[in-house]
Amino acid sequence: MTAVKERLAAGPDLDLDTVRFGSGGGPAVTILGGVHGDEPEGVLAAYRVADELASAHVRGTVTVLPRANPPALAAGTRHGDGGVNLARVFPGDPGGDLSARIAHAIARELIEPCDLLIDLHSAGRRYRMPPMCGFGAAGTLGGRPLLDAARTTPFPYLWAHASVAPGRSVSHADALGKPWAYFESGGGGALREADLDLYVRGVLRLLEVAGAVEPVSFAGPPPGRQTVVTGGDGDTDTGVLITVPGSFASSVSAGDAVSSGQRIGAVYDDAGRRAEVVRAPSSGIVMMLRHELRVAPGDVAAIVAGADRRAA
Ligand SMILES: [Zn+2]
Repeated sequence: MTAVKERLAAGPDLDLDTVRFGSGGGPAVTILGGVHGDEPEGVLAAYRVADELASAHVRGTVTVLPRANPPALAAGTRHGDGGVNLARVFPGDPGGDLSARIAHAIARELIEPCDLLIDLHSAGRRYRMPPMCGFGAAGTLGGRPLLDAARTTPFPYLWAHASVAPGRSVSHADALGKPWAYFESGGGGALREADLDLYVRGVLRLLEVAGAVEPVSFAGPPPGRQTVVTGGDGDTDTGVLITVPGSFASSVSAGDAVSSGQRIGAVYDDAGRRAEVVRAPSSGIVMMLRHELRVAPGDVAAIVAGADRRAA
């Protein structure tokens, strides 16, 4: 399938370069990578998906934007120009700052015309997350619940969100009644080949369910046991907060099942004294866990979300 390279109209100082596959007809799917500048998984996976689509039969239109936030990616930081979190300013503003203009261009040209949005994130430098596909619980794809589509991906955790925090790319899709999904994994500043494979296979499966591509053969095992996680709006700025400065030592791993009150970790002061014990506020799965050692009051130690074991 021939690729068409285009640049979004976001201003002369912004290179939002897309690769578009297909005839221009539907279904139209948008794939974003690099909304946060310290999450290389999404960028690399988006390029790899584009490579796969080059030899696939695309029935609809698939548009890939691997580098959604060039200023943040150039800096290698979560936030971009002016310390703005791009995932808090959608649908953006054409007359606003750099991040607002990026969000506006993506919203208008890639989200509003699409039938499915897939946003590729990861845990970034400061956190760890289990490999997972998050999605709008009310969404449908190909006439079936989006959960059914998520089940075709190889992710061991499927996070169904009844609501979503405002300002994200997926929030804009949600407000427009469009199905959306996002992927997370890894973190700690490390990159795992296995996670990249999950992303590529996950995107291809969702494209198949959407009817945007003919089935693509891609090496890898079928989905194993999957845990459906519910609760929480996926806002990574909220969770179990740390209240003292120091060094965080975790006592669980991302993806662990914990019970209410179970110890997640502790904060030690610089004299080695335990200054705070962090505990799970509820029973569930540790969907995000602090990785970076040094912490300050207000930092998130973890996000624990409930799991529906019966549906697993
Ligand atoms: Zn992110």
